[in-house]
Amino acid sequence: MALDTATLRIAFGLMALVLGPLFYFSSYRTTRSAYSGWWCLAIVFFLAGSACFLLNGSSHQFWANPLGNVLLVHGGVAVWAGARSLRTGPPPRWAFTGLPLVTLVASVLDNPATNTWSGGPVFLAAMSISIGLGSRELWRLEPGYSRVRIPMAAAAAGVSVFYFGRLVAFLLDGPEGPVFDAFFGSAVTTLVTMVMLVVVSFSMAALSTEQQTRALRMVATRDDLTGLLNRKAFLDLATEQLADPAVSRASGALILADLDHFKAVNDTYGHAAGDLALQAFAGACQDTVRSTDLAGRYGGEEFVLLLPGASADRAESIADEVSRRLALASEADGLQMPTVSYGVATYDAGTAGLGALIAAADAALYTAKSLGRNRTARSDRIG
Ligand code: GH3
Ligand code: MG
Ligand code: MG
Repeated sequence: MALDTATLRIAFGLMALVLGPLFYFSSYRTTRSAYSGWWCLAIVFFLAGSACFLLNGSSHQFWANPLGNVLLVHGGVAVWAGARSLRTGPPPRWAFTGLPLVTLVASVLDNPATNTWSGGPVFLAAMSISIGLGSRELWRLEPGYSRVRIPMAAAAAGVSVFYFGRLVAFLLDGPEGPVFDAFFGSAVTTLVTMVMLVVVSFSMAALSTEQQTRALRMVATRDDLTGLLNRKAFLDLATEQLADPAVSRASGALILADLDHFKAVNDTYGHAAGDLALQAFAGACQDTVRSTDLAGRYGGEEFVLLLPGASADRAESIADEVSRRLALASEADGLQMPTVSYGVATYDAGTAGLGALIAAADAALYTAKSLGRNRTARSDRIG
């Protein structure tokens, strides 16, 4: 059965024309999620790039053909960017400039006026790489993310492998060869892209809503200066931890930390420098604790760490490590960082609750302050 490329392209164009506004109005406008935003862009790039190829064979081919390649590669990068926005930030800048630029140069140098496949291998490799990286991001999403990430990751992986197959066939068989034509030609590519768009639209609503929900939750639970948990989120999560029957029979430690003479930092260097010191301390905490520990800003220049499984000795060495890192940060920032006092309290099955635990650590912290600051005191050694 011979597939009619022109008809397929019209079907693809129609599908993209419908999906673009649908993604925009139903997902992006309501959630403002980066994921749906990137997909709207990707669709625009795919449509515009494909439209350029309609000029193949005309006197405009010399510019339209390279431009088509570049636009499609931008579409691939937008797919990657969308996937990446679910996990971290946007892709590195070289993806936006480097991949399309290399494609452009390869196309321009490859007789674009007469060659409808100008820069073909570079274009195919760039598509395979960008969409493959998008798939990788989706696979690496934490398991808590909506399960529709799985078909989406599989669809992107499929398209990436398909483009890689095109590249190999192109190099071995040439664009006019029978293998390329039968399995990797324009008709099959259009079909494969349409299948991917079906999966994208299936998963669009779930993934963009989830991205928005996570962003809101992040704002609600984080302290915006330091990025640590805010007081309420810390208390909620710590209460949950201690109430967990698997954990409550176990033991652990809580550290309250208070920066020494912090008011003097503000008075001497200004409030902005004080903020820097708070951020540096938060960074030192984050670099020191494990991912299962909880680190929060308790208020002002006071911080709190919950370390499940840690002994008092272990907590004390963690406090030392945080102070050591903070001192190193002061060298880097050229700002004299304050020292820190710590109060450590441990818990086990007999501990009355989070309130009692924090009160014990607070009493220890008070002792550390009264003994001259820049030290750690333990609740089991006071009183
Ligand atoms: P001590 O060693 O006894 O803890 O003395 P201290 O100066 O650290 O304690 P004090 O409670 O007197 O001062 C805390 C200061 O922390 C006062 C307040 O202006 C400052 N502070 C609280 N929150 C922030 C903030 O978000 N940014 C900055 N720059 N300063 C803050
Ligand atoms: Mg204080
Ligand atoms: Mg203080």
